[in-house]
Amino acid sequence: MTEQPMVIAIDGPAGSGKSTVAKAVAIRLGLDYLDTGAMYRSVAFAALRGGVDPEDAEVVGNLARNMELDVDASGKITVDGVDATIEIRGPEVTRAVSIVAANPDVRTEMRARQRQWVAKRGGGVMEGRDIGTVVFPDARLKVYLDASPEVRAARRSKEVSDLSYETVATDLARRDALDQNRTHDPLRTAEDAVVIDTSDLSVDQIVDAIMESLS
Ligand code: C5P
Repeated sequence: MTEQPMVIAIDGPAGSGKSTVAKAVAIRLGLDYLDTGAMYRSVAFAALRGGVDPEDAEVVGNLARNMELDVDASGKITVDGVDATIEIRGPEVTRAVSIVAANPDVRTEMRARQRQWVAKRGGGVMEGRDIGTVVFPDARLKVYLDASPEVRAARRSKEVSDLSYETVATDLARRDALDQNRTHDPLRTAEDAVVIDTSDLSVDQIVDAIMESLS
């Protein structure tokens, strides 16, 4: 019998605490960590850099299939040989990413790359929107992190200090709507996910709750 990969899927909307929590869980378990949002951001980055309209589904689909994308253990993102670590978090990419992520050809390609990533390692902690529902429906543990829109916007505006709270809150609401209402692999809670509202919890409390669910 082949052994199932040890995948911990951590899904949820922007600002729910996924990245911080997923990284901490990976360290506790001695597993690698993959930020799948960074992969979709990289596709948006490649489109913008190439002067491609993010809405042009066919061209963006081809671009996703052909791009060289490397996400290393330190979080450095290289797209077609260019360091995109900083730029994928910028406002242009953030504006375009949910359009690109709604493209089914892009999703098929990223899903395949995410499964290859796990196959190489035998497991990992993966954060995203559709990991527990679509990419690894047999994950060892599925976690859905959530928080109130106000808390999520406050967290994000602390990270991007050059944008006002209002700008960040508006962008989050727009992305939530696009991610939840798209046809392909929308953001939703897997039926068997452990749901944690992180609004009033510390990172340690969330990580402890996840570790308890595993035991
Ligand atoms: O996690 P982050 O906010 O960086 O993700 C950026 C965008 O990538 C999300 O708003 C969503 O549109 C897309 N995404 C996705 N599926 C994933 C991860 C991210 O569609 N598994």
